[in-house]
Amino acid sequence: MTDLPGRRLLLVHAHPDDESINNGATMAKYAAEGAHVTLVTCTLGEEGEVIPPALAHLAADRDDTLGAHRAGELAAAMAELGVTDHLFLGGPGRYRDSGMMGAPQNEHPDCFWRADVDEAAASLVEVIRRVRPQVLVTYDENGGYGHPDHIQAHRVAMRAAELAAEPVFRRDLGDPHKIAKIYWNCVPRSVVEAGFARLREAGREGDLFPGIASVDDVPGVLPDEEVTAAVDASAHAGRKAAAMRAHATQIAVDGPFFALSNDLGQPLFPTEYYRLVRGEPGAAEGVREDDLFAGTGA
Ligand SMILES: [Zn+2]
Repeated sequence: MTDLPGRRLLLVHAHPDDESINNGATMAKYAAEGAHVTLVTCTLGEEGEVIPPALAHLAADRDDTLGAHRAGELAAAMAELGVTDHLFLGGPGRYRDSGMMGAPQNEHPDCFWRADVDEAAASLVEVIRRVRPQVLVTYDENGGYGHPDHIQAHRVAMRAAELAAEPVFRRDLGDPHKIAKIYWNCVPRSVVEAGFARLREAGREGDLFPGIASVDDVPGVLPDEEVTAAVDASAHAGRKAAAMRAHATQIAVDGPFFALSNDLGQPLFPTEYYRLVRGEPGAAEGVREDDLFAGTGA
């Protein structure tokens, strides 16, 4: 039904950079192992804050050319991760970055937050039915941390997974396909706490960042026992850091740490974590899966 490799992984993200921060090591690992990795990014990230002063003119309140620039950063990041199949939902610029929750940008007629979920999901159904992934990765219902585009990406991804499997839905978009497993990004609280402890220790000696973020600034922190999968991709941690560095308007990387535009340091995780929300776990009860494809037969 498809000429693609046997293992196929689909990730749905809100902005260029979210994929590298959340799943960069996982993407690099599976791509290196020969799996087909598809990234769908829902917006160009036009409303992001710009870190390097020399590029500040790109911002939405000045030249408003950040979207095209970030598409270039994303392409460079994908080259670092070895991922060749990446696209923007509905085409580049179809949905605009909505800005932070409550910002006036939420009212922009083209913003993703105002998109019709079923219409946006139909664009994703076409991708799902073409690629036929066994595994989908996206955010939890709060988008990890409440950003409207992340919440909307969650809604669109979950709706698309449902519609793609529906035999009578839009056969013009391809033959029905049921995704075997759906995961939401997360990170166990103990891992985040240990990461911040390392950062505080390093910060005393190196003064890496002007400030340090707190555990609650990290999206998707969960009690350890609710985390169902851990993908140890530490062999690909360098690729993840390089991909994050490619998003230079958004991320400053320093060794095993990084900061976003708020300048607050946080740990970079070479092992990435997931919560299985649809499908059968491929590990015994109470044991974390170490492979997102476990149990799918792929
Ligand atoms: Zn984002």
